[in-house]
Amino acid sequence: MIIVLVIVLVLLAIVAFFLLRGRSSAPSGAPAPRRGAAPAGDGIGGKVRNLFAGGATADAWTELEDLLIRADVGPKGAEDLVTRVKSRVSSGGDAAQALREEVEAVLGGDVDLNISDGELSVVMVVGVNGSGKTTTIGKLAKRLVDSGLSVTLAGSDTFRAAAGEQLDIWADRSGAHIVKQTRGADPASVAFDGVKSAQARGSDVLIVDTAGRLHTRTPLMDELEKVKRVLAKAAGRDPQEVLLVLDASTGQNGISQARAFTDAVGVTGVALTKLDGTAKGGIVLAVREELGVPVKLVGTGEGAGDLELFDAKAFAERMIG
Ligand code: GDP
Ligand code: GDP
Ligand code: MG
Repeated sequence: MIIVLVIVLVLLAIVAFFLLRGRSSAPSGAPAPRRGAAPAGDGIGGKVRNLFAGGATADAWTELEDLLIRADVGPKGAEDLVTRVKSRVSSGGDAAQALREEVEAVLGGDVDLNISDGELSVVMVVGVNGSGKTTTIGKLAKRLVDSGLSVTLAGSDTFRAAAGEQLDIWADRSGAHIVKQTRGADPASVAFDGVKSAQARGSDVLIVDTAGRLHTRTPLMDELEKVKRVLAKAAGRDPQEVLLVLDASTGQNGISQARAFTDAVGVTGVALTKLDGTAKGGIVLAVREELGVPVKLVGTGEGAGDLELFDAKAFAERMIG
């Protein structure tokens, strides 16, 4: 009898051993968590929770600040955020959730493009070479035309070889009208023609492409100021938007470049491009805090449809997770 009982127990132990082993080895056959497939800017929420797993220690706060700086938030923005989250979490609470809410608060509400009804709206687009100006203009033109507006493009980047052809392709793709002159022409003159042509055709929006090289005969900022002045004179009012196109992958470098533009031509909004190519969404906060201008558009690829209106809440959720 005892022998039978021992045999049964041994059998049960063997069965249990294989069952447990089977269960623990099962995940190795299942797909691994898809961390690499997370959207750009995703995922510091998990890290934040880990930091605070052992409580809100001084080390955890220091590491949170480092984490934010590494995500391109910028030193000042990172310090401010930590101070704000700290004051909320001291009374107990989830640091990651507090951080998400504070990020959203810093970004403020969403700000739409300033395009008025019934009158020509002028959008001047500035930024360094390669930041994505011409591509963003093409995508924006497509979005506006698709929404029922008529759009004229002005090729005031008369400096770069093939800039006009690139804009031609986008005019074609979007259904916008285009005004340009030969390479080397005065950018302000193209801008002037752009306004007159857009007015004559009854366009709703004129989008003005500009050059981005930093060093040539005429300093770039002087040239852009002149383009803006001529646009204002021809249209009878200041451009509705001066959009700065900023490559998200340039990080803090991009912020200091951007400051030169905000100082010279009074930028009203930022189009942040190539957010598909970087995991560091923090630059959106740096733009807001250090330049004092809202991000209005986000570029997420090279295709005509890869342009989104900036959504602060969705952004905060994606950044913190
Ligand atoms: P510009 O010199 O400022 O006019 O820049 P371009 O519009 O010519 O763009 C420079 C390069 O960046 C081109 O190869 C574009 O296709 C690419 N580009 C622009 N915007 C985006 C974006 O949002 N995502 C990605 N991945 N590439 C982009
Ligand atoms: P200023 O440079 O500040 O003295 O401003 P202007 O009024 O002289 O114009 C500056 C630029 O705007 C000129 O160099 C032209 O490129 C352009 N512009 C002004 N008026 C006209 C115009 O009637 N036709 C064209 N095509 N361009 C103009
Ligand atoms: Mg260009």
